[in-house]
Amino acid sequence: MLLSQYRGIAPKGQIELLKILGGRLKGRSILNVNSTKAGGGVAELLHRIMPIINSMGINGRWEVIEGDNRFFDITKKIHNALQGNPETFTEEMWDYHFEINRQNVQNIDLGADFVFIHDPQPVPLIKFRQNGHWIWRCHIDMSTPQPDVAQRITDYAGLYESSIFSVDKFALQLPIHEFVVLPSIDPLSDKNRELTALEISEVAKKFDLPPDRPIVLQVSRFDRFKDPIGVIKAYRMVKKYNDCILVLAGSPAKDDPEGEEVLAEVQNFAEGDPDIRILLLPAFSDIEINALQRLADVVLQKSLKEGFGLTVSEAMWKGKPVIGGAVGGIPHQIVHGINGFLVYSEEGAAFRIRQYLNNTDMLKRMGEAAREHIRNNFLITRQIGDYLSICIGVENAGKAVIEIG
Ligand code: UDP
Repeated sequence: MLLSQYRGIAPKGQIELLKILGGRLKGRSILNVNSTKAGGGVAELLHRIMPIINSMGINGRWEVIEGDNRFFDITKKIHNALQGNPETFTEEMWDYHFEINRQNVQNIDLGADFVFIHDPQPVPLIKFRQNGHWIWRCHIDMSTPQPDVAQRITDYAGLYESSIFSVDKFALQLPIHEFVVLPSIDPLSDKNRELTALEISEVAKKFDLPPDRPIVLQVSRFDRFKDPIGVIKAYRMVKKYNDCILVLAGSPAKDDPEGEEVLAEVQNFAEGDPDIRILLLPAFSDIEINALQRLADVVLQKSLKEGFGLTVSEAMWKGKPVIGGAVGGIPHQIVHGINGFLVYSEEGAAFRIRQYLNNTDMLKRMGEAAREHIRNNFLITRQIGDYLSICIGVENAGKAVIEIG
């Protein structure tokens, strides 16, 4: 995916800035290391970012550490504990975490001008630093971590030159430079690209969605923090006065027992109402999600706890002014009353749904503002610019003025 393909989509200034930053870093090498090539937002983003930076003449590489089930059980526990779910650790587990990273060093060339290590799985690699500037890129919510686990990770992270978090509230206190780089979406991916009328109508047909009735949508994993029951309650309040169909679309999450439980709860709660459509999407349903977001009249993301909330950016990019819970990264995206509404209750959500359904001019106006907000702030081009600026910044740390032109 070349930078020129974003011309006319991303803001002109962003592309011009990227050319300058890219020119400054031409011929330099940037290495990314994470723990998976497939699945999850980090891998998805790296797949999109790497070809772009390579097309700019930067030598970008992406390496993945390998581990066995025991390693990934441990790192999953680390992840959970850092996000605030208590877990128990033994000294052997921490030793194993380090040991697997040590073994990986034999297979990964860690030499690069800039090394971005993503998340806690490969964080111990800093012990094997050769040269270059090392940056720890944390994608997870560290706002309420389990203290002993946070301390272990801080011990490693503190050895880096800089760190990057996704939202200010998620940052750990570290003795090094900390940057905030908000997530972004790729307007050219299947999840976000323009679709043809035929592609959209095929999805409507597939899910039996009528063209002549308003659709209220939430796309989310079946997780209590996404409040699917609250969404149904809000819909029921609306339904007393306005006709609409509620679509709850999400993956069944077979590997997540709690996901199955929540799904069953939601199915039970929705029972008997043919206007509540629970759509179980298999993995890789990007075009379906894209089309559903375009088909919807009103999009909700009524989360009670949220990371950044990529679904909000995705829907806003499609011109939908989202009604979102005022949690996590959602208030970074929704400017209340301008390009969407922030809500704090089921009643609040119901009120805003009705406001939209009864005022299609406002819906359209706020939807246009939503798309422009995403264009200016949450496209992948902005995120690449942030990364390249950080490279230049760390290389020139301590200088009062850094010239990039
Ligand atoms: N998503 C998906 N299938 C689903 C539900 C969600 O592919 O069944 C996608 C969604 O479009 C978004 C991402 O998964 O790109 C979810 O990211 P978000 O930050 O909204 O929430 P998370 O699931 O990470 O808490």
